[in-house]
Amino acid sequence: MPFFDFIQTDPQVSALLSQELDRQRRGVELIASENFTSYAVMRTMGTWLTNKYAEGYPGKRYYGGCEIVDQAEQLAIDRLKDLFGVEYANVQPHSGAQANAAVFLAVLQPGDTILGFDLSHGGHLSHGSPVNYSGKVYNATFYGVEQETGRIDMDKVAATAREVKPKLIVCGASAYARDWDYPRFRAIADEVGALLLADIAHPAGLIAGRHLADPAPWVDIITSTTHKTLRGPRGGIIMMGKDKDNPWGRTTKKGEPIKMSAILNSGVFPGMQGGPLEHVIAAKAVAFGEALQPSFKTYGAQVMANANAMAEALVERGYQLVSGGTDNHLMLIDLSNKGVTGKTAEATLGQADITVNKNMVPFDTQSPMTTSGIRIGTAAVTTRGLKEKECVQIVDWIDALIRKPDDEQVQATIRKEVNALMEQYPLYPMV
Ligand SMILES: *Cc1c(COP(=O)(O)O)cnc(C)c1O
Repeated sequence: MPFFDFIQTDPQVSALLSQELDRQRRGVELIASENFTSYAVMRTMGTWLTNKYAEGYPGKRYYGGCEIVDQAEQLAIDRLKDLFGVEYANVQPHSGAQANAAVFLAVLQPGDTILGFDLSHGGHLSHGSPVNYSGKVYNATFYGVEQETGRIDMDKVAATAREVKPKLIVCGASAYARDWDYPRFRAIADEVGALLLADIAHPAGLIAGRHLADPAPWVDIITSTTHKTLRGPRGGIIMMGKDKDNPWGRTTKKGEPIKMSAILNSGVFPGMQGGPLEHVIAAKAVAFGEALQPSFKTYGAQVMANANAMAEALVERGYQLVSGGTDNHLMLIDLSNKGVTGKTAEATLGQADITVNKNMVPFDTQSPMTTSGIRIGTAAVTTRGLKEKECVQIVDWIDALIRKPDDEQVQATIRKEVNALMEQYPLYPMV
């Protein structure tokens, strides 16, 4: 096991690494927020760049010896700007939640009202959940989807915005299968005088590939993770289509207007974080370089074709998808007509090495630990090389498992078939 040379000193951790690699290799990975990085991205993360302290930004650090990591970080910034066609990028946030927290810290005051997508409809904790920093420090209000359509009614978003008068409107979610109407969100934000943030953590790779609507011309700020459809290392980013003067008239000591870029940068450091993870930032640069290749556009198209094939196959087999289908890489399945909870479905599929997560559906009557639904996504299986045909096969397996949730024989048989399929799509064969 040449890969494990580095950890011969620790057989316990080495064994766990080995077991997890085996789990990833043999299973069908349908968790919508996961993906498999390239070997280059992964190995770049595990390097000596982790040793370097580099508080500050390229060319303006609080430590010596940053000449090389400055170049790595600048490369990540420049590639990210290219990828999304934006003027400003910050690649330091440790994760998507940190990126959001840094933006909130930069542009809001404690107690300010924010308006985001309802968490119980598929929104994210970092958009104002009462158990999250964002919901404790800010006054969080929400818009959601319609029960009949499973889609956002933009007139209702506008009405809520007029009523609550938010300082910041957030669009973006963790379990919304439809694209976003950024121009309409812009009009609403302008009407109520709010800043507009698009959190594209999930669809980032599909937006980069120009498969989905581009928020950059419409929103003030964009945040994202780098490890979901974007297929980079675990991390976060912040972008702006255009840099501009801050809207609050804040000036430097010399009386010059402070740019939004400077305000956002200071939200990340020193506001929210200490030293940046330069090993992860270098891996981000590698991932952005990969995403700039034509093959990444092809990848995104296949992710969506696979999601569409799964959605259609599920509907044909009597499954209820929230909003009836998908525009992106994920779908939310409401299992209430199938007589199983999300929790049971997750456990049953897991027995057959098919990994999904239980998920609340809008207007769910079950608790968050039980749920009525599961969320599935195709970013990871598409990276493995699966196409529409295999995705329909997976739907057949899911259907057979959910029809007989307690049948260990069915689980064992399907697990063998799953393992045999995935063996044909090697993961990190160089390891
Ligand atoms: C995944 C996700 C995040 C958080 O990302 P972490 O890296 O897990 O902190 C933020 N916002 C949305 C919409 C997400 O889906």
